[in-house]
Amino acid sequence: MRTSTLCLAVALAAIPTHALAQAPKVWTPQELFVRNIGTREQQDRQFPPHKVIGNIYYVGTETLASFLITTPQGHILVNSMYERNWPVIRKSIEQLGLKTADIKIILGSHAHADHMEADALIKDATGAQVMAMAEDVPALQAMRPGGKAHPIDKVLRDGDQVTLGGTTLVAHLTPGHTKGCTTWTMKAQEGGRAYDVVIIGSMGVNPGTRLVNNPTNPTIAEEYRQGFKVMHALPCEVPLGSHPAMYNMTDKHAKLAAGGPNPFVDPQGCKAEIDLVERTFTSVLEEQRKTTSPQ
Ligand SMILES: [Zn+2]
Repeated sequence: MRTSTLCLAVALAAIPTHALAQAPKVWTPQELFVRNIGTREQQDRQFPPHKVIGNIYYVGTETLASFLITTPQGHILVNSMYERNWPVIRKSIEQLGLKTADIKIILGSHAHADHMEADALIKDATGAQVMAMAEDVPALQAMRPGGKAHPIDKVLRDGDQVTLGGTTLVAHLTPGHTKGCTTWTMKAQEGGRAYDVVIIGSMGVNPGTRLVNNPTNPTIAEEYRQGFKVMHALPCEVPLGSHPAMYNMTDKHAKLAAGGPNPFVDPQGCKAEIDLVERTFTSVLEEQRKTTSPQ
């Protein structure tokens, strides 16, 4: 027993470290899910509101991202989150010295309650217009917290632009996670130059998702592939996402205090995150193909 343990130790020590470094970890759907949503407490606990870059501010919780984009004509809110999170968004906006009444447009990452449940509540509170990707409209219409109808003032198509006060966001259809999952891009101005910002909608495969022989969505695997194709092609210098773990917000925020270059400028992080979730997608697809008999 002792000898074989020793042999294993010697064998492991003999593996060159660069060989280990070349095999990146493949996250399971469960691991990715937990990384993204955290605990119930983390979903609800305010994260210190902060300026990300240019006119983009973080007003979300520890694991659910909400961004406020300020313009001279009012604000755009990306992700209303759960209704129970509204007090945190409101408090964050006030702590930044801004006004919730100035929210004019509400956008979202995709039709899941942790990102878009509070659309009706915040529209009622502010009078803002809710805009959503066409392919997500049926799922949003089914999202009726407290029986309230889901407001949709404008239906968007892939490539549509949303402009307010000189800032333009572009809606990119990156399907798979939901039919109308939307990745938002915009330019942020800082230090005399413009940066390409990408707010990742989500390319995650949730635990239990059928990619093969899915009766409710037979084309789901192709939708994910299309989503990844779009994601890979987007110019990205500042990755953001519907969950802060998608761009290591906590680590980057900790670096803000030190001064120096803006830690949210991270082109490598953008690519790394897309590759990470794509490895999960590919491994789930291969596994399900192996274990699913052809129909
Ligand atoms: Zn989701």
